[in-house]
Amino acid sequence: MGDIYCRKCGEPWDAYGVFYGDMTKEERKKFLRGEGCPCCDFGEKVEKKSRLDKEILNEAFWTSLAENSSEVEDYGSEG
Ligand SMILES: [Zn+2]
Repeated sequence: MGDIYCRKCGEPWDAYGVFYGDMTKEERKKFLRGEGCPCCDFGEKVEKKSRLDKEILNEAFWTSLAENSSEVEDYGSEG
């Protein structure tokens, strides 16, 4: 189990923590949709990123999500 990176700011979140305690249900939902994390106020506090930065963050987000897919799927089956 590893970290999942915020798609907006790149903050690494412990995958376990995302599902168990670090985020509220609502925050987690947004986070997993790539809408940011509490750290960057869901994109509000992110300074303007270049296109390249955004691509890197996007890539890191999806890769880390895939790497932690068992966690994500467990959560998904909970509804
Ligand atoms: Zn963030």
